[in-house]
Amino acid sequence: MERSVLLLLVLVAALVAAQQDVANTFCPICNMVVVPSIAQAIKGNQAVYACDMAGHFHQLTTSPATFLRGAAIVKQLPEPYTHAKMGCPVCGELSFTHAIPWAPHGNQKIFACSEDHAKQILANPTAYFTSTPQNDTTDFCQGATGMYDGFQSAFHGFCPRIFFESWVLDSTIKYAIGFIGVVLLGVAVEALTDIQAALQKRFAKRYAVSIWAKEVDDEDALSKELLACDNGPHLVSRRLPLWCKAILAGVYMCTMAGAYLLMLVVMTYETGFFFAAIIGLGLGFYFFKDVDDLVMEGNPDPCCST
Ligand SMILES: [Zn+2]
Ligand SMILES: [Zn+2]
Repeated sequence: MERSVLLLLVLVAALVAAQQDVANTFCPICNMVVVPSIAQAIKGNQAVYACDMAGHFHQLTTSPATFLRGAAIVKQLPEPYTHAKMGCPVCGELSFTHAIPWAPHGNQKIFACSEDHAKQILANPTAYFTSTPQNDTTDFCQGATGMYDGFQSAFHGFCPRIFFESWVLDSTIKYAIGFIGVVLLGVAVEALTDIQAALQKRFAKRYAVSIWAKEVDDEDALSKELLACDNGPHLVSRRLPLWCKAILAGVYMCTMAGAYLLMLVVMTYETGFFFAAIIGLGLGFYFFKDVDDLVMEGNPDPCCST
C-alpha cells in the first residue's frame, strides 16, 4: 500500500515537472516536428519551438507578431501542453482562459490568464521573451541547417551541415575546407568517368573474347555498316571476362557514390557549394576528358575494328 502511494507520488511529481511534449510539437511555419534545442523561452515557463530549416526560428523570433493570431478562449490545456507546468507570461497566474496560436501551421500557443493579458502579449510579444535565443552564433554564421529555403549563402546566414549531423561548417576555415572538398569531389567524379571509359577500352582490346562469323544468315538483324564491308569475317559480339566486368562495376559504383554525394551537397541549396560542385565538374572535364578521343568514340566501326 505504502509503495503504491509512493509510486503515485513519483508519477504525479514527474507529470508536474514535465514540460510540453516536444515530440508532438510542430513548427508554425512548415508544420515539421520541432527540434527541442531550437527554442525561444517565454515568461511563465512557456516557449516557442521551431524546426531546423534555415530561417524558420529566425523569422519566429524576430517578427513574432506576424505569426501570432488572435486569442481564443481555452477551457483546458490542449495537446501537446496537457502536462506542461506554465504560468501567464504577464502575471504568472497558473490558470488560463485564453490561448494565442502561432500560425499558419503547427500546434503551438502562448497561454494567458485573461483576455486582457492575451491582448498585452499580442501587442508586443517580444517583451515577454526571456533572454536571447540559445547562442550558437559565430562570426561566420548561426545555427545549422541541412537545407536552405531556396538558394542562400552561409556567409552571415545559417551554417551549412553536410552529410553528417556533426558536420556543421560554422567557421570560415571549415567552410573553405568544405568548398575545396566539394570541388575535389566534382573533379573525382569526372576523373572516374574517364577511368571507366579508358579501362573498358583497354579490357576490350586485351581480354575480350571476340566471336566472329564468316557467313551472315540473317541479314536484317545486322546494321547497314556491317553489310557495307562484306569481305572477310564479321565481328558478331565481344565478351569480357567476369573479372573485367567486376572491376568496371566497382569503378562505376565509385563514380555513382561520388555523383550522389555531390547531389546531396547541391541539395543543401547553399549557393557557394553549388558553384563548388560545378567548378569541380568543369575542372575534371578540362583535365581528364580526352576531348579529341571523344570524336573517335562517337564513330564506332563494327566491321574494321580489331
Ligand atoms: Zn519550420
Ligand atoms: Zn496574466
